[in-house]
Amino acid sequence: MLSHLIFIMLLTTKLREVTIINDCIFCKIVRNEIPSTIVYEDDRVLVFEDINPRAPVHVLVIPKDHIASMNEVNAANADLLGYMMSVIPQIAAQKGIAESGYRVITNTGAEGGQIVHHLHFHLLGGRQLKGLG
Ligand code: AMP
Ligand code: ZN
Repeated sequence: MLSHLIFIMLLTTKLREVTIINDCIFCKIVRNEIPSTIVYEDDRVLVFEDINPRAPVHVLVIPKDHIASMNEVNAANADLLGYMMSVIPQIAAQKGIAESGYRVITNTGAEGGQIVHHLHFHLLGGRQLKGLG
């Protein structure tokens, strides 16, 4: 009886995960189900132009695997996160903003202003960015 209950709970969790990944807009971009302007791609990371750019350079750096936000970053995916960080200066150089400077932002949760619940780093540059205050 208990094993049945555990099985159903595991199945429910799995189904919820599958639904999130199916519906996630950035997972759809990774699967090529909706179009994007890809700037860089490898087996773990995708970089594409933000659809509503807030600066002359505004790209989004995402893991191909679904991670909802910074709240899901932990020791198990720290390597991937470190790898994503290593991609960012390459993209900045590719976009010609490595020397002029740029900003990397990740919004987390409602008060952090996160709209898309698939971890992403905004890479912004190409103009003087205002202070955060
Ligand atoms: P955030 O508020 O940090 O969740 O930012 C989400 C970002 O995703 C925003 O800057 C949007 O302009 C961007 N965005 C949403 N949908 C798309 C899309 N289909 N292609 C590219 N960028 C998108
Ligand atoms: Zn996703």
